[in-house]
Amino acid sequence: MKTSAILSPLIAQNWLEEFSKIVISLEDHLNELDAAVGDGEHGSNLSNGAKALLQGFPNFKSRTLGEFFEDAGMTIINSVGGASGALYGTLFLRLSDVTSNYQEADLTLISQAFDSSLSGIMELGRVKPGDKTLVDALEPAVTSMRASVKNSENLLTAMIKAHYAAELGCSSTANMEARKGRGSYQGDRSIGHIDPGATSMAALFGALSNTISNYFPH
Ligand code: ADP
Ligand code: MG
Repeated sequence: MKTSAILSPLIAQNWLEEFSKIVISLEDHLNELDAAVGDGEHGSNLSNGAKALLQGFPNFKSRTLGEFFEDAGMTIINSVGGASGALYGTLFLRLSDVTSNYQEADLTLISQAFDSSLSGIMELGRVKPGDKTLVDALEPAVTSMRASVKNSENLLTAMIKAHYAAELGCSSTANMEARKGRGSYQGDRSIGHIDPGATSMAALFGALSNTISNYFPH
């Protein structure tokens, strides 16, 4: 019997293991994207976090989902430099806050948790959709998840759609002018280049949908 699809601490760890491996493999690409609009180290920054996560997992004391995301968020904050360390750290700490009383999460809770991550990042970064940041990948994914909850879709369908929405949002940053972060110093020279943070954010949702599909295939 197939159990109903949920996010447990083990599945969440597999998700972040996959994300970490993708980030490490994309390090040069993310640095090149950041070189066009920023200071060229988004790949190196996030790779440091990915390596810290892969090394850290065996030592995590976390047992609940909320504790797992807290450990992951603190690991990222302590290992990733630049704006993206605080922003990705906030994403995971918000996931932790919303899931803190739960052993595992269903789609409704996952959607609420990412909603909180989106608000936290927009507050911390003082950004809105359209400012050419990782919010432009995260916000469409969150909107897609909300719709999936409303339509009572299963978790895998919801995650595949959220990933697709994040990728589309990421592509759309090519037409935007950076208004925040180091990219903004480039003014309209940033137009034509995809935002590096949106690219890594889309990869986070790619890793999530892959992981859910490995555990709960159609
Ligand atoms: P830094 O901006 O300090 O060089 P990184 O290069 O690691 O940090 O990350 C750059 C990415 O962070 C950008 O591509 C953008 O997506 C995101 N970013 C930068 N500043 C902000 C902000 N104020 N709010 C939201 N996201 C931001
Ligand atoms: Mg940078």
